[in-house]
Amino acid sequence: MILGLRVVCGLSRSSSRPLGPPLFPVFEVTVSGAVHYRGWEVVQVVSGIAYDCDVLVVGGGIVGLSTAYAITRAAPGTRVTVLEKESGPAQHQTGRNSGVIHSGIYYRPGSLKARYAVRGAAEMVKFCAEYGIPHAVTGKLIVATERDELPRLHALVQRGRENGIPVRELGPAQIGEYEPEVRGLAGIHVGTTGICDYVAVARQLAESSGAEIRYGARVVRVDRRADLGVAVRTAGPGGGEVVRGRVLVNCAGLYCDEVARLTGDEPGMRIVPFRGEYFTLARPELVRGLVYPVPDPAFPFLGVHLTRGIDGGVHIGPNAVPALAREGYGWGTVRVRELGATVAWPGTWRIAARHWRYGGGELRRSVSKGAFARAVRRLLPVVSEGDLVPAAAGVRAQAVLRDGTLVDDFLIREGARAVHVLNAPSPAATASLPIGREVARRALAVLGG
Ligand SMILES: Cc1cc2nc3c(=O)[nH]c(=O)nc-3n(C[C@H](O)[C@H](O)[C@H](O)COP(=O)(O)OP(=O)(O)OC[C@H]3O[C@@H](n4cnc5c(N)ncnc54)[C@H](O)[C@@H]3O)c2cc1C
Repeated sequence: MILGLRVVCGLSRSSSRPLGPPLFPVFEVTVSGAVHYRGWEVVQVVSGIAYDCDVLVVGGGIVGLSTAYAITRAAPGTRVTVLEKESGPAQHQTGRNSGVIHSGIYYRPGSLKARYAVRGAAEMVKFCAEYGIPHAVTGKLIVATERDELPRLHALVQRGRENGIPVRELGPAQIGEYEPEVRGLAGIHVGTTGICDYVAVARQLAESSGAEIRYGARVVRVDRRADLGVAVRTAGPGGGEVVRGRVLVNCAGLYCDEVARLTGDEPGMRIVPFRGEYFTLARPELVRGLVYPVPDPAFPFLGVHLTRGIDGGVHIGPNAVPALAREGYGWGTVRVRELGATVAWPGTWRIAARHWRYGGGELRRSVSKGAFARAVRRLLPVVSEGDLVPAAAGVRAQAVLRDGTLVDDFLIREGARAVHVLNAPSPAATASLPIGREVARRALAVLGG
């Protein structure tokens, strides 16, 4: 228990001041003898706040845990508590992704994504090596299968070079040297892409951070006082617990906009959840490594790809379809309140109006395995519908602005005594170490200020 003390000298008719709302009791004691002046009493009041920690992190995914890790590295002795609603770490985006350490080739030079992914990929490999976490630097192929993709493939080569990433251009025969069953008109090989076990990374970050991690702790209320700190209430029997800290860090992923609003900050965006469905390849010998299509500039984060994961299996996907709940991992999961909030956000309708044609294709591939298999055959002609075994899906937390803009870059915003991570889609697992350091820097600045 940390006591924050604040000494206030003032005029008062009595020696006590009203207590704050229930989450933030401030106890006050008159410590000096009272001096009387024209009927008023001059008193000295010491306010004490029972802080449970310095930094309160909401969310035990890779971003929240990397933030906790970065804080305790940068400022040893800082007390960090992570509140995670599930029974363990990394049960949502972090534990349901493709497991790829992205090179950073896709992202606009100078963007946070480009800077943090390039740096983050190298750091992630080092982190995994240091702690014995399964990983491999495999490289990956990006393959053009249509003529109209060739200019975009060449633009990627250029972008890769601008981002300092080693890229090798390939003709059809050279594609076959890497992947005998893959067909394409041209391709590129990116040397620094890899794969790892992000759940193991998250667990290690939790352990190495020395933070107190409370599982089963869903934050349902936040009482933020700009002059004091934050007090949160968690859901639970008997009204849950109250945890108090000096600054709140919101890394709630699919719920980050809701946590920002609970804090009293209007984030100006909403998370619109997009589910990504995967299949496992029944004949994994058909694919040696990682094979991607040329990305569509309108949706650089999309495109069904083939990934030989760290578990040895080959995963095919993800597509992108609207999820009917933020943690809606199948069409059968519908949460009316969440769906209502998504539908009520004007940006949702604007995306639908702009991208209905693309979305229609994704929906078709979601409901028809045959359509999905046809899409995969563009890259891997020998695949048949029977080769595709349904696998666990993930849901992306995509921030959407009121005008329907899909926020492309990572987005971190600050409110009084709060730092909110509002957009951390792919490649945020790759980039989690630099993202965590940046969030930590901002949280520590609040403590120091
Ligand atoms: C299908 C898919 C494929 C992807 N592939 C890749 C990839 O190959 N490489 C890559 O780098 N990135 C990939 N990503 C992106 C990457 O997984 C995410 O960017 C990253 O995991 C985000 O981490 P996070 O900690 O922000 O979110 P999460 O992992 O979702 O963690 C947020 C946590 O907050 C908790 N939480 C939410 N609300 C509350 C509350 N009120 N109280 C307490 N806890 C709360 C949740 O339970 C959750 O554990 C992919 C994502 C998806 C969905």
